[in-house]
Amino acid sequence: MARYTGPACRRCRRVGEKLFLKGERCYTPKCAVDRRRTPPGDRSMRRRRVSDHGIQLREKQKARYMYGIMEAQFSKYVKQAFTQSESTGQNLIKQLETRLDNVAYRLGFADSRRQARQLVLHGHFLVGDRKTDIPSYTVRPGDVISWKESHKDSEYVKIMTADLPKRPVPEWLELDVANLKATVRRLPSEDELETTIDTRLIVEFYSR
Ligand code: SF4
Repeated sequence: MARYTGPACRRCRRVGEKLFLKGERCYTPKCAVDRRRTPPGDRSMRRRRVSDHGIQLREKQKARYMYGIMEAQFSKYVKQAFTQSESTGQNLIKQLETRLDNVAYRLGFADSRRQARQLVLHGHFLVGDRKTDIPSYTVRPGDVISWKESHKDSEYVKIMTADLPKRPVPEWLELDVANLKATVRRLPSEDELETTIDTRLIVEFYSR
């Protein structure tokens, strides 16, 4: 299946929630969800009753859209989450959170996960001393993520660095702003997984 290349805001309108896919714009009155509450293509304001399956499906799609993951990869994450100990939902979120593109976003290197994904794909980062351009790369405790030396002089990096001290970084990551380098201290604990996703619904969707 091809990657979705249409308007990001359409995905938020589809699930009826802000998914913060466009960085700064999401915090302005230009946000499409704030302006229009109806799903794309639906001109009526009529409320339809959504089945339990529909609710579960919407939650699964929401998680996919938020993290920018294709269907096949997402169900692979869910299958893995089922095989691990601990709660399946928490395992799933941990897998999503430890993707390299998400980590770059959490560190404040990008305004959105979409942008972080682009940065990773364009080879801006090293994990350890190896260039890593795979957005789904799973970081592990002890991994050091840094900007490639040759990319540090760009205008984008200068503006982003000036903004970094204002951005909160999760406790499980440690950011060295001066050297644009971060260390994964440990895997995120349950209470550090800040997400608006109801994983129970996703687990129910895949348990049918
Ligand atoms: Fe979603 Fe951001 Fe577009 Fe609002 S501006 S609809 S939050 S992507």
